[in-house]
Amino acid sequence: MKTNSTIVLDAQDISKSYNGKKVLEGISLQIRSTDFYVLMGPNGSGKSTLLSILAGTNSFDSGNIKINGNDLCKYKLGARKHIGYVPQENFCSDFLTGRENLQYFANLLGLPKSQAEQEIEQLLEMMDLKEEAGRRVATYSGGMKKKLEIATALLGDARILFLDEPTTGLDPTVRKDFLSVLKEVNERGTAVLLVTHIGEDAEIASSVGFMIKGEIVAEGTPEELKEMSGLRSSIVVDAAPRSDELMMLLAGLSGDCIVIERESLFELICEEPKRMVPKIVEMLYEAGFDMRSVDTRPPSLEDVFYRLTEYPIRGEA
Ligand code: ADP
Repeated sequence: MKTNSTIVLDAQDISKSYNGKKVLEGISLQIRSTDFYVLMGPNGSGKSTLLSILAGTNSFDSGNIKINGNDLCKYKLGARKHIGYVPQENFCSDFLTGRENLQYFANLLGLPKSQAEQEIEQLLEMMDLKEEAGRRVATYSGGMKKKLEIATALLGDARILFLDEPTTGLDPTVRKDFLSVLKEVNERGTAVLLVTHIGEDAEIASSVGFMIKGEIVAEGTPEELKEMSGLRSSIVVDAAPRSDELMMLLAGLSGDCIVIERESLFELICEEPKRMVPKIVEMLYEAGFDMRSVDTRPPSLEDVFYRLTEYPIRGEA
């Protein structure tokens, strides 16, 4: 057990159905004040449903949830004052400035004026939004809007921050900056629970859960999960023309490889990557493909997810 940390989220056996179809199958999750927990899963696996339930904005069929020791059903107000929730949809007003949005949410929470002013300035500083605070949110970039939403979610006495797919649509540099801001929020004492289908978001987590069809099927630190998977490096193949024929050729390789189709390349997860590289080069050459590169790279959490869950690479949950 970690020292100097307390349990901020204790969810036991949460189940939920929509129209008779089970979406969450008895999920239990414990998060401590120092945790940066990332729950990873494909679209439709139940991540948003779980998050909205934990944040107190959705109902559930069975189980119980405590936030900072307060039962979310019995002591709703006591529990919810410790929750900061950033859903997928933007919720700040485009017509107000960043600072006005924060003032509006501080009013809703009933924060005394001087406390609100102090918190707003600290949060703008932490989110690096001080210079833009007087501008209308309509002029903000996607990354700035998300940071403002985090600031509003942290107002008051938030002990845990729930974020639903916050990096979707952000370019790689902005995503990196955004994740390091979240890391700072966590290091300053707020627990983080982020749900995502993007493996990169999970690399900085202290704990990662893999979710499939309403169940958390594996949990651990990124290093533990990588170790569990037994994966070493993967092979990245950039060849033209990109066609189904190329995909089929790679999928047909002997040597127990899994093929993942990326935006502009193919990635292969193999037992013995170094042994496979020359085989692939020879095979593509003989089949007449224009080979741009065939390289190895260390395993990512996305690779680990596919390996540990044996989830099909293409398709939905
Ligand atoms: P994820 O966030 O992992 O993409 P969701 O929690 O959004 O998954 O959805 C899980 C399942 O629940 C999906 O099959 C989805 O269609 C279904 N679902 C989500 N919200 C509703 C709703 N309000 N009514 C009926 N079905 C829903």
